[in-house]
Amino acid sequence: MINIILFGPPGSGKGTQAAKLVDRYQLVHISTGDLFRYEIGNKTPLGLEAKSYIDKGELVPDSVTIGMLNNKVEAHPEAKGFIFDGFPRTIPQAQALDTLLEEKDSPVAALLALQVDDAEIVERIKLRGKSSGRPDDNDEATIRNRIFVYKNETTPVFDYYNEQHKSHSINGVGGVEDIFERLCELIDAATK
Ligand code: ADP
Repeated sequence: MINIILFGPPGSGKGTQAAKLVDRYQLVHISTGDLFRYEIGNKTPLGLEAKSYIDKGELVPDSVTIGMLNNKVEAHPEAKGFIFDGFPRTIPQAQALDTLLEEKDSPVAALLALQVDDAEIVERIKLRGKSSGRPDDNDEATIRNRIFVYKNETTPVFDYYNEQHKSHSINGVGGVEDIFERLCELIDAATK
């Protein structure tokens, strides 16, 4: 199995790159943001709870997020590996992921962090908001809070995997294809 964490601030292009990586490496893509939006769309109890955090740009509590992630991984026993997009976003989530993958004897191969500066992120998310219809993309205060939360709660996950010598930074500005090639080079090196 090949397990990759696609990391980076909101709006850094994780979803765009994940779709391309799935094609190339035949991995299962798990985006916790997409999973929450699916639950919200279906007005499930989990969705209603998650929405109250997401609309403010806060993280959904770990207990909810980890449970949902575990279920999704367990639903794919046939997977050749996973691309985790938007997960883990906290140290407890990273620890839970490591425990889950240990049971499968297939640890995280690499964490790839897309680097994009704040001004560019805010512009990208506002642009996306025009077509995504996401409330959290259409309010500048919410966008800024997501960036704040990323810096405070999520960047420690980069250091956590760096201690395992698995974290890599990639320039997330430029053409989609160029960024994709940068990611593939790192994945090929981490899995050979
Ligand atoms: P973006 O990368 O643009 O922030 P996502 O779709 O990854 O978008 O996430 C949208 C929102 O869903 C986040 O702002 C957060 O509220 C919630 N969310 C997604 N993943 C997680 C997670 N792993 N832990 C907690 N909350 C999460």
